[in-house]
Amino acid sequence: MNQNTDILTSLNPEQADAVTANNGPVLILAGAGSGKTRVLVHRIAWLIQQQQVAPHDILAVTFTNKAAKEMRVRIESLLPFSIAGMWVGTFHGLANRLLRAHYQQAKLPQTFQILDSADQLQMIKRICKDLELDPKKWPPKQFQWMISDHKERGLRARHVNPEGDYQLQKMHTVYQQYEETCQRAGVVDFSELLLKAHEVLLENPTILEHYQQRFKHILVDEFQDTNKIQYAWLQLLSSQHKGIFAVGDDDQSIYGWRGAEVENIRNFSNEFPNAQMVKLEQNYRSTSNILNAANALIENNAQRLGKKLWTDSGEGDRITLYGAFNEIDEAEYVIKQINRLARDGVRHDNVAILYRSNAQSRLFEEQLMRSNIDYKVYGGLRFFDRKEIKDALAYLRLIANPHDDAALTRIINRPTRGIGAKCITSVQARANAEGITLWQAIETLTKGTELTARTAYVLIKFTQLIESLQQQSTTLSLEDMVTNVVETVELHTLYEKEAPESAATRRENLIELGNAAAQVSSELDGEDPLSTFLAYTALESSEEDDETADRNCVQLMTLHSAKGLEFPVVFLTGMEEGLFPHSRSMDDPDQLEEERRLCYVGITRAMQQLFLTHAHVRRMFGEAKYSMRSQFIEEMPEELITDVSLPAKPKAAPISEPTSLFDEPDMEGMPFYLGQHVAHSKFGEGVVLNIDMQGVHPKVEINFNDVGNKLLNMEYAKLTPLE
Ligand code: ATP
Ligand code: MG
Repeated sequence: MNQNTDILTSLNPEQADAVTANNGPVLILAGAGSGKTRVLVHRIAWLIQQQQVAPHDILAVTFTNKAAKEMRVRIESLLPFSIAGMWVGTFHGLANRLLRAHYQQAKLPQTFQILDSADQLQMIKRICKDLELDPKKWPPKQFQWMISDHKERGLRARHVNPEGDYQLQKMHTVYQQYEETCQRAGVVDFSELLLKAHEVLLENPTILEHYQQRFKHILVDEFQDTNKIQYAWLQLLSSQHKGIFAVGDDDQSIYGWRGAEVENIRNFSNEFPNAQMVKLEQNYRSTSNILNAANALIENNAQRLGKKLWTDSGEGDRITLYGAFNEIDEAEYVIKQINRLARDGVRHDNVAILYRSNAQSRLFEEQLMRSNIDYKVYGGLRFFDRKEIKDALAYLRLIANPHDDAALTRIINRPTRGIGAKCITSVQARANAEGITLWQAIETLTKGTELTARTAYVLIKFTQLIESLQQQSTTLSLEDMVTNVVETVELHTLYEKEAPESAATRRENLIELGNAAAQVSSELDGEDPLSTFLAYTALESSEEDDETADRNCVQLMTLHSAKGLEFPVVFLTGMEEGLFPHSRSMDDPDQLEEERRLCYVGITRAMQQLFLTHAHVRRMFGEAKYSMRSQFIEEMPEELITDVSLPAKPKAAPISEPTSLFDEPDMEGMPFYLGQHVAHSKFGEGVVLNIDMQGVHPKVEINFNDVGNKLLNMEYAKLTPLE
């Protein structure tokens, strides 16, 4: 058997057609689990193996670092050699690579640093403070959101015309200041990476031509989630060879809130007039019960390109539905099922617990810990976001670039060295007044006469510390640079003092940072070690890949981070109105459709077993809330679901802490209780399923014997209790 058939034998005819499609634009629009990612990976292997395309001429882009790594591994497993030289990565990773190569054209220092969103928020807070904006009236987070949103749409401050709009004027001022501060400090935030890389291409025809020539094949996974600037990138780079191969599913577009544009898929054939369109309709991932539930759900969306999806893998188990008494009961139920599955031989790492928002993970974590089940939370606090790591990195960032204001602010008095808040404020005032960086302001101030001798002394000591670290680093390996910083600055002593109980963990983590540095330096290919390492820490979130790759642990993640993945057993939790779909989407049909797509993504992660859970009462942000179960549950065909909920009548005994939420005083005087039999003049008899006391008009959900579930306004419903 030759390699050609090898690559194609594990594909169905449509998939094989897609893999071997002629050069030119190709769009594969297909539902979940139909093999899109598989086709993309095989296409790359086929191009290299059969079409003698050099890995160097291929650009492959996907959404997460995890997916990019997996893609590389999968391609290499299909080929007898390595594919070093091929650009595989996320949009951000690739933009970073481009900017490193062309930092001069990007008007950035060679050692430019990447600002993560926490650093970005800090910087915006400082700007707002300088502008004397009351954070209550002008939440910095909102400015952060607006700035990113503008950048993602390709708009700089100078493109915004704020005339006649007071709010926009403020935003504009903050945006402008923010741009200037970043430029001075030589730092770029995440959306800036993309925007700037795009500008470099646009403004430098020779650079653009070089990459247009080079990338004969550009392959994009999860195409439905590309935003405007990412799409502009792809158009620009592919405009010469038109070798764009995009795979996606409009039904899985879940980043509209971050500027992703499903229109990109819808417009593909206009943009690339002779594009080949391929449909894949067979799902290889899920049983037909799971798939049919997903299909039925997504039918409720009006805005769809419309696709069919079938499977021949058999019905499988029915979907299990559990309506929990409260969120603790929900977590206990999930853990009980995981234990039961384990007894039946299901490995923990075959199980995923998915939820709408990060905050939901905590209870599952507690219960898993209590039951001694190993677990891994994806998208939780990243290794590189930990305090001790950020401290050490801030020193490293100043070594690379002393004008990095965010890094300087973090550690100027950490550990304490007598540089007080007042002193820092005057440094900042000077920097603002002269439009210079904090580092430059310190230099100016310490040369002048305004400071007291003591203040000038401590500031000079600080700059000397950074300069001597810089000096030492010229002869040190990356790994030793890390150790040198930690020891010279005496970080361990700091943590011993701050929180002795966690000092040991922090020590271990700092050692781990050294290991990460060693790993990066072993993979260097002529790049500057420190800048490469710092970019890596900002862009990679992948401690989980290395550290827990072989651990047999239950996987916890938000629905957003589950995209593209698959698990034999999936728990879709917190299926409640207001939580999922999210309350923000309730009165916006477009957002509600996005929530539904998110639910579709969740359902279609499951291969063999799917559990849906919801809680009648959930304590969130310190408040107990009664919720109706998610409308998405109602949208799945009843015959596919087995409801194992306990009768919903109030229980006398609490399941565990906190005490029975049904005794809350706000239920006092409630005309109805869950499980109660009632009659309605038009709909006949039914049972109370849910009570929603939130909002101006309390609602009650009733399952009527004749007409099914109805959501009624409690004040107007004219219900007669039957007991
Ligand atoms: P998603 O929309 O969730 O990203 P996808 O369309 O990218 O899904 P893949 O992840 O590529 O789908 O494939 C889903 C599963 O089906 C994988 O386990 C894959 O290996 C398997 N699969 C795909 N095509 C085939 C095939 N022809 N034969 C056997 N298994 C297949
Ligand atoms: Mg995929």
